[in-house]
Amino acid sequence: MNDAFVLPTRFGARGLGGCYAPETLMQPLLDLEAAFRAAMEDSGFQAELKAELRHFVGRPTPLTPAPRLAAKLGLKALYLKREDLAHTGAHKINNALAQALLARRMGRTEIIAETGAGQHGVATAAACARLGLRCTVYMGVTDMARQAPNVARMRLFGATVQPVEAGQGTLKEAVNEALRAWAGRCTEAHYILGSALGPHPFPTLVRSFQTVIGEEARAQVLEQTGALPEAVVACAGGGSNGLGLLVPFAGDGLRRMAVEAGGHGRALGEHAARLDGGRMGVLHGCRTLLLQDAHGHTAETASVSAGLDYPALGPELAALVLDGTVDARRASDEEALAAARLLCETEGILPALESSHALALLPALAAEGVASVLLGLSGRGDKDLSTYQSRLEL
Ligand SMILES: *Cc1c(COP(=O)(O)O)cnc(C)c1O
Repeated sequence: MNDAFVLPTRFGARGLGGCYAPETLMQPLLDLEAAFRAAMEDSGFQAELKAELRHFVGRPTPLTPAPRLAAKLGLKALYLKREDLAHTGAHKINNALAQALLARRMGRTEIIAETGAGQHGVATAAACARLGLRCTVYMGVTDMARQAPNVARMRLFGATVQPVEAGQGTLKEAVNEALRAWAGRCTEAHYILGSALGPHPFPTLVRSFQTVIGEEARAQVLEQTGALPEAVVACAGGGSNGLGLLVPFAGDGLRRMAVEAGGHGRALGEHAARLDGGRMGVLHGCRTLLLQDAHGHTAETASVSAGLDYPALGPELAALVLDGTVDARRASDEEALAAARLLCETEGILPALESSHALALLPALAAEGVASVLLGLSGRGDKDLSTYQSRLEL
């Protein structure tokens, strides 16, 4: 129905993003953009999405003041945007549910998704059960073994979990398989990509469905305090919760910060800090900052947090950092673990290991003289309990 993209396919002065997809996927991607544009302008779709976000996901999620942690760190004020309280325990459901609604509107009956640690797979399986869509989740065999509870959750929601044996048996291979499966079934199936990554229009689609986080948080902090904070902070895996929180604060002249996984060392292979060691490259359909070796092969990454352990940063967030409007930092495994423990002890909230990387930046911000911070708590830490148990010797 269309022969060219209408929305911008590139981000920033360096032209990140794009649509590096095989021929067979071009028409489905064009159709997806057209359907997305129509849905965003359709008040019926917007009303349906809003109702599901409210009654199924549990939005708006609270903005919780954290005065005891703030005092401990030497901050005047700290506010936590509680995506950990969204259904299935993280922000992933915002995107999964919205894309599932879009797929149903397009007449698709089947959903394909990839998952690494399993959070996006669980959110997608839940959304599909809710809307009566068939769901197949591609997952590397290594990930299936180490994330067995999430495999069980997906199966309880009626999803088929498709093991991927290739390569390391992790997220990278799962995305490849999911894209391949979609190319073969694109008239009946929609592919729900889990972060602000992939070929156009996925990065734009996912960011649009996640900005509800920042829109709510901005209104909530103004309502609670009458002012905006000095800094807004989120962790960055692919970049979806980061963009979701940071983009709505774009015109506010405050510090916007994204924290990547510093892992356990600074050498290639010991971290997932793409902004601090990445070079331009193409992976999974888009051109962005990528960790790669001297020969251009995608590098291994390491992080205590599965959700941040990915070699590429989404193109829009990478562009915001390269263009100087978002500040990128890194937090090590140890710093994230310590930050999680401190939040638990001072506020009674158990954060996901991903979110703990954002928390780990707070001492540095206090030392730099920042007084008030709004932080995106992207998920809850129950899924990470065994890591906390062994690493914190509980
Ligand atoms: C998946 C995940 C992330 C990282 O993904 P983004 O797309 O960068 O948001 C962060 N936090 C939690 C809790 C996650 O599940």
